[in-house]
Amino acid sequence: MILWPGTQELLFKSIPDRYFSGVSERLHKGERILRGIPVSAGVCRGKILVLDKARKGVERREVAEAEVPGEINRLQQALVRTREQLQEVQRKVAQNLGAEHASIFDAHLMVLEDPALIDEVVRVIQQDKVNAEFAFHAITERYASALAKVEDEYLRERTSDMRDVSMRVLSNLAGQGDLVDVTHLSEPCIIIAHDLTPSKTAQLDRKNVLGFATDIGSKTSHTAIMARSLRIPAVVGLKNASDGLATGEYALLDGFNGEIVVNPTDQTLFEYGQLIRKQVTLEEKLRDALTQPAITLDNHHVVVSANIEQAADAETVRASGADGIGLFRTEYLFINREVPPGEEEQYQAYRQVAAALKPNPVVIRTLDLGGDKLLSTLAVQTESNPFLGWRAIRFCLQHEDFFRAQLRAILRASVEGNVKIMYPMISGLDELVQANTFLGQYKEELRKEGVPFDDRLEIGAMIETPSAAVIADTLAKRVQFFSIGTNDLIQYTLAVDRLNERIAHLYEPTHPAILRLIRQTVEAARAQKVWVSVCGEMAGDPSLVPLLLGLGVDELSAAPPLLAQLKYLIRRLKLSDARELARFALDCESVSEILARSQALAQRAAPSLFDTKK
Ligand code: PEP
Ligand code: MG
Repeated sequence: MILWPGTQELLFKSIPDRYFSGVSERLHKGERILRGIPVSAGVCRGKILVLDKARKGVERREVAEAEVPGEINRLQQALVRTREQLQEVQRKVAQNLGAEHASIFDAHLMVLEDPALIDEVVRVIQQDKVNAEFAFHAITERYASALAKVEDEYLRERTSDMRDVSMRVLSNLAGQGDLVDVTHLSEPCIIIAHDLTPSKTAQLDRKNVLGFATDIGSKTSHTAIMARSLRIPAVVGLKNASDGLATGEYALLDGFNGEIVVNPTDQTLFEYGQLIRKQVTLEEKLRDALTQPAITLDNHHVVVSANIEQAADAETVRASGADGIGLFRTEYLFINREVPPGEEEQYQAYRQVAAALKPNPVVIRTLDLGGDKLLSTLAVQTESNPFLGWRAIRFCLQHEDFFRAQLRAILRASVEGNVKIMYPMISGLDELVQANTFLGQYKEELRKEGVPFDDRLEIGAMIETPSAAVIADTLAKRVQFFSIGTNDLIQYTLAVDRLNERIAHLYEPTHPAILRLIRQTVEAARAQKVWVSVCGEMAGDPSLVPLLLGLGVDELSAAPPLLAQLKYLIRRLKLSDARELARFALDCESVSEILARSQALAQRAAPSLFDTKK
């Protein structure tokens, strides 16, 4: 069981005092419990809001003869509105990125202006007497499916343009009134959705979203990672919760144990009151650990850093007791907006974070787009295997304009003296060499322009592909630090999609293959005096901390709310015990036995961290 205790503030905010006494004013219609995967700690209760529109597809609605002109009119207005929006986006992209990038929207506009397509949609509305959404979706899907099958590559690529435009028109047809704006909710609620993208999660109205639950997803999806950063209690992998629950129902969400209790009884509320009490006591104990260094009982110092997703998180980091920022996921600066940020805007963001953390180090990871983090405006083709596709450093090395703006911005921010650069998803030496060559060029440019930067800023590679771990000795000669991205390392090594709840049981951090790769990386790093951090979710899991320390990593980097418990645990462990555990683990064939031993060691050292049962 992975535990993420929430804060006292969070817990009290979500459950009123009356529940401690078990007295409830509510009438219970019968309690129902739905079980999923716990991904973000905390308990909340409130009204449910079911979002999930997309999964149900586009609804077919018969319309009366008299309503047909109205439907055609709605279609035309949606087309006009979509054209205006696209032209606006195109104008901004041209301004910020140049005409070449803006021209990708020509294809989108052509779809909107295609008379054959529009005439066909109108004909379907008239003949079949159906709503505009259904007719438009049916025809554009037919076109898209046909395009997807043609041999000509250029035409095939138009499939995603067609689907993109279709989505825009459909959302305009839905009209603002029909869409739930999750950035501004009128009252506190628990969000239930089939899926939530990481970008949507980042936008949630923090004031009114008590918690959220989704049908799909897993612990290391970026949606789950975001929930932990935002301290929103969350459960994923509930399979069909969005179908079975209705807006307005009353529920309790338990982010410790992965449960949603619909219409909780007084007894249940009372039991949760007990759990909350235990958590509050724990929070008090953890508060002391915040200001203390993470030093084991046998005097070994472990650096504990924070992972952040937005520049504004820097303030939270300072309060979390972090020794610095071990991972700044810069891609969140790029998503949820029509036009990507240019060099100046990025520079301001990076400099703000570096200045806030000074003199503690800030590791800025270059853009890791792709996988489950996508840009809404870049014409990136739909890929069959996005996590194996045009992602992270692969994207940047082919999109030099993006890379240049970002590397120059990071270099400029490095004048603060505490900035480090890290490349994601390195899978071979060439990528690292190429990235460093670009970096060298941009340093030269800045020198010529007389712009100051820290010429000695450290460069790191993420070790998140098995190939990188295997050639860590080669990579170690060209970097100053490694950061092991276990979220991806596990998915790529075990061939288990990190987002897929159906195979979540195969996503095993204590698989001997993972431990051997981590050990190999540490040994290669040691030989070159290269620093090793772990910034995947494994680093924030108290059950696995003894194992990582024993394997020899220097630093653990995790979401700010998790750091107090990491420090608390490390201060109660002995490195010698952790090393013995690692020796045992590297010889052991059983995933569950390794997990059980690591967990037992952590639990013996800090039992209260594991007391999350009600
Ligand atoms: C990882 O893969 O472990 C990692 C930290 O990167 P991300 O989760 O952003 O892919
Ligand atoms: Mg990764």
